[in-house]
Amino acid sequence: MQSLELQIPDNTIESDGPTKGLQTITLLSQDERLKGRPKLCSDCGFCDTSLRPAMAQSCVFVENKTEALEQQFHGRVRETADEMLFGVYREMYAARMHPPNKHAQWSGATTKLGALLLEHQLVDAVITTRAALGTRFAPEPFLARTPDEVIASAGNKPCLSPGLNLLDEIQNSNIRRIAFIGVGCQVHALRAIQDQLGLEQIYVIGIPCSDNVAYPDLQRFLTLISRSPETVVHYEFMQDFSVHLRHEDGRIEKVNFIDIPMAELGDVFPSACLSCFDYPNTLADITIGYMGAEFGWQWILVRNETGQALLNLLRPLLEFSELTTRGDRHAAVASYITRLAQPSQRPPALIRRLIAFLMRRRGPRGLEFARSVIEMKLLRNVQHVRDRFARLEQRIVPYHVYQALAPYQNAYWDAFDRDLR
Ligand SMILES: Cc1cc2nc3c(=O)[nH]c(=O)nc-3n(C[C@H](O)[C@H](O)[C@H](O)COP(=O)(O)OP(=O)(O)OC[C@H]3O[C@@H](n4cnc5c(N)ncnc54)[C@H](O)[C@@H]3O)c2cc1C
Ligand code: SF4
Ligand code: SF4
Repeated sequence: MQSLELQIPDNTIESDGPTKGLQTITLLSQDERLKGRPKLCSDCGFCDTSLRPAMAQSCVFVENKTEALEQQFHGRVRETADEMLFGVYREMYAARMHPPNKHAQWSGATTKLGALLLEHQLVDAVITTRAALGTRFAPEPFLARTPDEVIASAGNKPCLSPGLNLLDEIQNSNIRRIAFIGVGCQVHALRAIQDQLGLEQIYVIGIPCSDNVAYPDLQRFLTLISRSPETVVHYEFMQDFSVHLRHEDGRIEKVNFIDIPMAELGDVFPSACLSCFDYPNTLADITIGYMGAEFGWQWILVRNETGQALLNLLRPLLEFSELTTRGDRHAAVASYITRLAQPSQRPPALIRRLIAFLMRRRGPRGLEFARSVIEMKLLRNVQHVRDRFARLEQRIVPYHVYQALAPYQNAYWDAFDRDLR
């Protein structure tokens, strides 16, 4: 096989490894493992394995293969305007576990599904992510063999996590059927190599993901936004345009998005996450998130026949609600483009409070909220690629991004004086 450097000349950094954040992934110190990786790398774990020589065919940051992989795993590519944003889906629900798992990120549908697959002996093991010993949020990929072990891994460890690094352990064992729980960049690499793994069955349970960070940056983020960072046990970016932080004593601290001191946070997001176009984890069989549902409910997208079987397994344990959609995101997204081109100073506290109030009162809700945040992230990330990695655009920005953003052609032209396409 050719050397990786020869296959990916544009995206390989000569000496000092991937950009921002990855020097300090999870609890690991800077070490040899990041050498020779592309400049854009989210440390998905693939390159820690003996599969590394196939990185150029698998890595989403070398070549985004979404279109071909959708065709292969979902039987078609995206068709409707919503699919351009949410990915191919057959069915979409607002649902939650009844009763919920109070240690889970939301209601625990994700880990319960992994546990059910083991209970019903449909898989031999589940790749999931637990917290590293002695920490609350440092991710540690983990091969769960029992339902209890999967359930014990509930809750977000909201940092970059090398989940695919367990593939070698699987291949060197008697495991033949697995479930993989993970984020979009991991799922892309897994899907691209899936047929070569020699496994009988792989169920892919996806969680949405955006703006991930390395573990030390997460700690810095919590220190900046919370009055008591060391007691935060759970946090989430909510549909009411604020971060809810739950503390050990059950208290909920709320911080409006607009009050997050981005300037003080600095360059916190890795370039890989700013060049990522799969917020809703569109190559999974089923995606379990929250942002398209009303507060308190989970947003479930069934993408193919396997996803249908997974939902059927979970269905008896779920209660369902209506998916709603309210408001019109278009003006807000268009003005976001203007701010992308000409970032303005953070307004004074009083004005910020007023903006936060108006966002809550008049901002998009339900599916329209999900559409708006996905569009904003697509726009920001296209711009990041254009500013920092222009030569990679054709290979790493997938087909649907331009179609999804077509309604903003004019706003984009006005802001950046160039075509969006
Ligand atoms: C960094 C990050 C950002 C997210 N952003 C959004 C968002 O903007 N919108 C949205 O709808 N959903 C988002 N999610 C997903 C969401 O927060 C929940 O994880 C999801 O809805 C599942 O909830 P649950 O109660 O069913 O999960 P649980 O039953 O609590 O299970 C959580 C599962 O997540 C896995 N996991 C935890 N941390 C990681 C990690 N770092 N990498 C890979 N897998 C992990 C665990 O293995 C576990 O299996 C994000 C998740 C992460 C990790
Ligand atoms: S993102 Fe994954 S596949 Fe790509 S270079 Fe990093 S570890 Fe390798
Ligand atoms: S934002 Fe994208 S690249 Fe970053 S960890 Fe999440 S899925 Fe991977």
